[in-house]
This record gives sequence, structure tokens and C-alpha cells, in this order.
Amino acid sequence: MTVSETPLSTPARRGLLLVMTGASGVGKGTLRERWLAGQDVFFSTSWTTREARPGEQDGVHYVFVSPDAFEEKAQANGFLEHAAFVGNRYGTPIEPIEAALSRGQDVVLEIEVEGAMQVKARVGEEAILIFIMPPSLTELRRRLEGRATETPERIEKRLARAREEIREAHEFRYVVVNDDLDRAVEELLAIQRAERARQLPEPEWTEADREARVRADHLRSYTFTDARLAQVTGE
Ligand code: 5GP
Repeated sequence: MTVSETPLSTPARRGLLLVMTGASGVGKGTLRERWLAGQDVFFSTSWTTREARPGEQDGVHYVFVSPDAFEEKAQANGFLEHAAFVGNRYGTPIEPIEAALSRGQDVVLEIEVEGAMQVKARVGEEAILIFIMPPSLTELRRRLEGRATETPERIEKRLARAREEIREAHEFRYVVVNDDLDRAVEELLAIQRAERARQLPEPEWTEADREARVRADHLRSYTFTDARLAQVTGE
């Protein structure tokens, strides 16, 4: 038997598809930067029809495209998901994601809730959906106002949308409350480690894997009670 005919003892691991979702202004971007720092993870760059904000670079923060170019790609089934959000369209190009997953690289998407639901419907269990919850809607308003890039009218629209999205949190696998950045980042790392461990037989788990599994279990969305939800929405 030549080397090339020798079966590999372990099949190549497929990357994890981690989908981070939640209201606009909840801090997904900051969390993601801290979470992924130093990791070889593929972060998907979305397409959008919205105007670039000052400091945003084409091809880095988003691929900024015309409504026609967006529609053309949508028609050609070039997106894993796409959604309209407060007057603009946003979409996740599918090809680079499949390539990364196949070569064993973890992939992270940072998208709004409707798109995350589409990923869930299309990909099923393989998608690890993480809902980032604001400490409260009052705090979310403060953060959106602090951004100073949005008009008061658009802030109201984003808040109204956030209220709807928060009610859908139970649709996702995990809920991470972004009230303390360090803790929220640790929780995201625990979820990622726990989900990786799930791909291995239990005897291969390390002590750290076991701890991550316990921690991740406490973040499952069904443990987030209606009472806690009411605290967030102020209802
Ligand atoms: P922003 O205009 O503030 O950059 O983004 C608005 C919302 O769209 C955010 O919640 C952001 O996470 C989400 N978003 C960014 N890219 C995508 C995408 O490719 N698909 C979907 N569905 N939402 C996205």
C-alpha cells in the first residue's frame, strides 16, 4: 500500500458554522473582534446596499454594492441568506463559506435575526445560532444614540425591530447577554469549544472541554426564562 492509499486515521474535521445574531447596536461587532482575536476563523464579509459610513472600507467591513448588483447575486442563488434591514439589503455570499467549512476552518457570520432564521431553515443543526441579548432596551437605545451615525427616526426603527427580535431569542441555540464584555467573550469561547467537543467521541474530551460543555449548557436558549426576557424589554 502506498502512502496515498493509506486511509487517514481520523477524517478531516469540518469547520463549525457559528452564527452570531441580535439587535443592531447590541455590540456584536466588538464582541466578535474580541472573541476571534488570535483565532484562525473565517469571518464572512457581507454584501450590502447601504452607504458606507465614514471609515468603512469596501471589501473589508462590507462589499458595498448597488441594489441591481445585489438583486443579480440573489437571483443567481449567490447568498446563503439575505434580508432587508431598515431600508437596505444585506447578504452572506455562500461560496467562501462552503470552502472554509470544507477545509476545516470555523466560520463566523454576524447577521440580523431574519437572516439567521433563514440559515437555520436552510442548514439545520449544523448552524450554531447564538443570540446576543442587550442588558435592556433602555441600554440599547443609549448605545444607538451614542453611535451618532443614525438619525433619530432610524434609531426608533432599529429599536422597534430590536423589540421584535428579542422575542424570537428562543429560536436560537444559545443566548449570551452582553452586559459585561469579558464575560460575554468567555461565553462565546465556551460555546465554540463545547461545539467542537461535540464532534469528538466523549473519551477524547479534555477537562477544559467538559467545563465548556457545562458552561454552554447554561447558555442554551431554553434556560432564558420569560421573566428574564421581561427584564430586558421592560414589560
Ligand atoms: P449595519 O447597517 O449597522 O452595519 O447592520 C445592520 C444589521 O445588519 C446588523 O444587525 C448586522 O449584523 C446585519 N447584517 C450585516 N451583514 C448581514 C448579512 O449578510 N445578512 C444579514 N441578514 N444581516 C446582516
